[in-house]
Amino acid sequence: MVTHRWEGVKWRDTEINVLKKYFEIEKSIQELSSILNRSEMSIRMKARDLGLKRKIKTKTRGWKLSEQTKQKHKEHQLKDKNSNWKGNRVSYNALHQFIARYKPKPKLCEFCGKEKKLELASIDGKYTRNVNHYKWLCRGCHTELDIKLGFRKKDNKGRFIK
Ligand SMILES: [Zn+2]
Repeated sequence: MVTHRWEGVKWRDTEINVLKKYFEIEKSIQELSSILNRSEMSIRMKARDLGLKRKIKTKTRGWKLSEQTKQKHKEHQLKDKNSNWKGNRVSYNALHQFIARYKPKPKLCEFCGKEKKLELASIDGKYTRNVNHYKWLCRGCHTELDIKLGFRKKDNKGRFIK
């Protein structure tokens, strides 16, 4: 059993707002549990108190992570144990929602200016809440950036080392 620090502590208005905002449509109970640092049981009970009901997701919005990207971020996290986002207990999903909200996705890649499918990239490899440290990049530019930052390396034949 994970002990949650805020267990039993009165819900603050900000937490209730998060619950109201996300419980019905966007987030799983597990995600809310990690964002609010409360147990899943406590999330369920509070949602019931507030009369919130989960609705079927009708559209996906915002941030989607490929398995590969998730893996990559996991590796970053292991590499940099003091990374900010871990330090202030902000869950990865919450952070990306936050950044995507304050840094709307443009039409064109912010590096090469081409119209392509864009991914949100941290330009310094640190996962902070500073929106200026993020760019919307096409896959090619994102990969280039990762190479520059040393997250991905090529072997002597120019292939990526996984
Ligand atoms: Zn690009």
